[in-house]
Amino acid sequence: MPGVEKRTEGPKPFRELPITWVALSELKPHEALNEEELKGFIESVTRSGVFWLPLLITKKEKIILDGHHRWAGLRKLGARRAPGILIDYEDPEINLGIWFPLLTKEIGIFLAALENNDIKTQIVPERQLALNAVQSGNAKMAIVGKTKEEAILVLDDPLAVDILTKEEGESICYIDTESAALSEVDRGEARFAIIRKPLTKADVRQKTDIGEVFAAKSTRHILPWAYQKIEVKLEEIIPNFHLDEE
Ligand code: ADP
Repeated sequence: MPGVEKRTEGPKPFRELPITWVALSELKPHEALNEEELKGFIESVTRSGVFWLPLLITKKEKIILDGHHRWAGLRKLGARRAPGILIDYEDPEINLGIWFPLLTKEIGIFLAALENNDIKTQIVPERQLALNAVQSGNAKMAIVGKTKEEAILVLDDPLAVDILTKEEGESICYIDTESAALSEVDRGEARFAIIRKPLTKADVRQKTDIGEVFAAKSTRHILPWAYQKIEVKLEEIIPNFHLDEE
């Protein structure tokens, strides 16, 4: 399965949130799609015939916070509306984190892929220098390994992360905090962690305002509560959908 997510956050209190049917054409994505994940969702939902995870959308701006592949997949299947949860993006309890991709292959493979795409890289002698450069915005991301010499700065291309995760392929994994990502590298669970600067809600708004998207699997919107699953038959969402009986 592509894109395993590792979460270090603990359990959250449960809250039942209101479900609203939303017009899919009005929604604004803020992340690119990953073909594998899109295929996976379409297979899953058409096999079961049930849609169980509502989309998460901002009330005012109609930005998709979670559910890009559900949104694109349902549209591809011919849906016009789908069940979602509308939330107030101003709410300070709604936080924004990012995902940190973990890589397990040899560095040469990644460097060759970046070079083939004309992406400039710079090797810095210490992890902290790489992390500082990302923090200050001087570098878009850093590929950080275990030893001092294995901190590599990717300088100028935000889409480099797509190339790196594609090169990692099936074994790609994402973790939810920078410290957890670095600890995976230090414990030898991963060879490299991709460290990026956290995004803000203003960044997300700005991106959608100009009709652009971040790389797939960039943001991680964090709600203070866990919310309910739903059970909506696919034929209620897609009028002429019929589950194939085998
Ligand atoms: P993104 O994470 O890019 O916003 P999604 O959250 O839409 O994209 O990713 C696909 C999600 O669809 C996965 O979290 C998966 O759990 C979910 N999913 C898989 N099958 C179904 C289904 N039958 N109904 C609802 N959601 C599903």
